[in-house]
Amino acid sequence: MAILSHHHNKYPLRSLQHVPTCHHQRRSHTRVTCSVTTTSTKPSSNPDQLIVEPGLDRLVSTPPPLVTPTSSPLLNDPSLQSTWSHRAWVATGCTTVMISLAKSMVAAANSHIWLEPMLAGYIGYILADLGSGVYHWGIDNYGDASTPIFGSQIEAFQGHHKWPWTITRRQFANNLHSLARVITFTVLPLDILCHDPTVQGLVGVCSGCIMFSQQFHAWAHGTKSKLPPPVVALQDAGVLVSRSQHGAHHRPPYNNNYCIVSGIWNEILDKHKVFEALEMVLFFKLGVRPRSWSEPNSDWIEETETHSQVTVH
Ligand SMILES: [Zn+2]
Ligand SMILES: [Zn+2]
Repeated sequence: MAILSHHHNKYPLRSLQHVPTCHHQRRSHTRVTCSVTTTSTKPSSNPDQLIVEPGLDRLVSTPPPLVTPTSSPLLNDPSLQSTWSHRAWVATGCTTVMISLAKSMVAAANSHIWLEPMLAGYIGYILADLGSGVYHWGIDNYGDASTPIFGSQIEAFQGHHKWPWTITRRQFANNLHSLARVITFTVLPLDILCHDPTVQGLVGVCSGCIMFSQQFHAWAHGTKSKLPPPVVALQDAGVLVSRSQHGAHHRPPYNNNYCIVSGIWNEILDKHKVFEALEMVLFFKLGVRPRSWSEPNSDWIEETETHSQVTVH
């Protein structure tokens, strides 16, 4: 099949979908077939995405159901708007982070130790970027909507790959509430138990950056002219993940630039193929295949805005 051979030479890892011991071979094969049938009915705008053999669409008489769990959200879709529950979780998340930072500052003032908490805060900012990359890689590649705890995040990120532009229309608390909830549950016990200014400095900055990573991510999808100038300046300075760096995450081969805080780890992780090595370890130890090996896959290929609106009824 031309679809498989097209990427076969370019990305040798894809050839693993022919390993006979693979438990998910049938599933990934079905996905590829579906991606052919859904796209072959429409003109392909990007020659990189798929090569469809001319006679292939004649083999399919009835179109199969859409592979993706949800349809493209409309501009005023309620799923993009914040609820009071979203706002409450963001408020508790912010309060939790503020308590951590305040405790760090009070303890630093009392003990006159400032350098260590400030250095710890900087390390927290650096580690938050790494954490965002590992988490993003995990939910992009493993599990599905039925996975406990992470299911809704996995589904949301799959939807994000198909309709990346919707993140710019998503309201603030709607975008942040999932991470705010995680931060509340993990940081609140530390707020109560820990009184060390250095530990609180690291935890406060790190958890704050992780909670706001979805906002930094949304800004990375913005257009320069529409973003607030200070945000553009921070992106250009490398303090926040840049638009060009994150743009590469949404282009083939869909297996790089996972970090969404500052993006400082992206080059290091991608150059040393850290995630690809982890994927190999998980595959050979547990037999689990990451989604990124199954490309081209309609789940990850971006639909253009016009295209999405055409498919919405
Ligand atoms: Zn992603
Ligand atoms: Zn994105």
